[in-house]
Amino acid sequence: SPIIIWLRRDLRLSDHPALTAACQSGRPVIPLFIHDEQSEALGAAPKFRLGLALECLSETLEDKGSRLILRREGDALKVLRDVIEETGAGAVYWSRLYDPAAKDRDSRIKEALKDDGIDACSYSGHLMFGPWTVETKTGGYYKVFTPYWKSVRGRDVAEPLSTPSNISTPKSWPKSDSLDDWAMDAEMQRGRDVVRPFARVGAAAAQSRLGAFMANIVEDYDDSRDRPGEDGTSAMSEHLTYGEITPMQCWHAGQRAMQEGKRGAETFLKELAWREFAYHLMHHSPRIVDKNWREEWDAFPWNEDERRAEVLAWKQGRTGVPFVDAAMRELQVTGRMHNRGRMIVASYLTKHLMCHWRIGQKWFEEHLIDWDPANNAMGWQWAAGSGPDASPFFRVFNPETQLDRFDKDGDYTRRWIAEGRTNPSEDALAYFEAIPQSWKMSPDDDYPDPIVDLSEGRERALDAYRNREF
Ligand code: FAD
Repeated sequence: SPIIIWLRRDLRLSDHPALTAACQSGRPVIPLFIHDEQSEALGAAPKFRLGLALECLSETLEDKGSRLILRREGDALKVLRDVIEETGAGAVYWSRLYDPAAKDRDSRIKEALKDDGIDACSYSGHLMFGPWTVETKTGGYYKVFTPYWKSVRGRDVAEPLSTPSNISTPKSWPKSDSLDDWAMDAEMQRGRDVVRPFARVGAAAAQSRLGAFMANIVEDYDDSRDRPGEDGTSAMSEHLTYGEITPMQCWHAGQRAMQEGKRGAETFLKELAWREFAYHLMHHSPRIVDKNWREEWDAFPWNEDERRAEVLAWKQGRTGVPFVDAAMRELQVTGRMHNRGRMIVASYLTKHLMCHWRIGQKWFEEHLIDWDPANNAMGWQWAAGSGPDASPFFRVFNPETQLDRFDKDGDYTRRWIAEGRTNPSEDALAYFEAIPQSWKMSPDDDYPDPIVDLSEGRERALDAYRNREF
């Protein structure tokens, strides 16, 4: 009887333990994606990017003589049961996910399918290290990155599996929706035509970018990864989050580069471990996703009103602080933001504006095509000071000195800010195509004065911190 491969964030054919196991069994394989309440709940940009990933995977499967079956229903279990009934499938395999909502859904479904007499099996594939396999000496979990890194850096990481040579097809295919009917880009008001050219989509694109990164960029990655005006990072995040590439594939490519003496390769491996660490934290302490990880921060006088003019200015990239504004505009146009930008805008929102990190977390969740539940939550709690291994609240980034250090020649701000320039760049102008008309912004406007004086904002935050009641 056929095996259903229930695809979620594993939209590739290589290094796919669940798919490989199914193919090795010699039984017919039915690749299935279910647009259930969890994928429906994605923010506009992640949903849009997911649609692109599905389109690409569907073509790849067709090239191999197989198909991607698409079904839409709030409840994934109902779809699985329907497809089992339609095809006589006897097994469902999937790659394990680790966010609290997916874990709940998957364990409920596993039990129900087992009760139905179906072989329900989950496989690894999204992470290098099962979050429960990394333990401190006393048997707890790690809350600080450096010791976590020390404990995993020497581990053997599974060699990536190759693409199955043959994916057996069932005698008859179950019915499938059309991806166009799902309109995954419907909520992407902000110029899908603007964002689309910046997305690299699919497993082949991921592998080719990884190759180019290892050939040309990783050598200088220790420095280039901090310069937002350069193409100096791997850009693997949008592929990793949809599983178009695996961390194992990235890790082994990094190991090879290290053996070839490429300087930045170890730092790259360390960054991959940050992603693992984020999942480790989320697995052991799911509250990191939506609550102050350090509960005492509940008593901090965060501004929680999203309608404040300052919050809108932050979202619009109109704070009058060039580093912040450049990064927020990069987000609108490309659906991504350089890591240094993420750190700066998060620090500015939570400290200079003293807004609750949840406001920024939600904005990113809506706008990032590389949105990742664990990385985003950890990143925001790190910036706000409320996370386990957080930057201390009193360490407030100064966006001006950061700009002097990391964008000396002004490449980044020139690329993203049009106002006040005689020849604005194409990307700076594209921003005005990507934003809602209701923002009433024009490249001919004057560039705004800072909405908050940087040193006053800093002092206000530090005062609140000194006077906190915990
Ligand atoms: P590279 O520098 O090439 O790094 C390689 C890979 O390592 C990345 O793809 C990523 O998987 C991992 N990595 C690198 N830095 C981090 C980090 N600080 N934390 C966890 N993993 C890391 N990353 C996301 O993938 N999705 C998010 O939603 C996200 N939200 C963030 C929010 C904030 C406030 C902050 C400060 C960081 C966030 N990050 C997020 C982490 C980081 O900014 C991105 O992973 C990185 O910019 C992606 O670019 P890259 O793939 O070129 O990174």
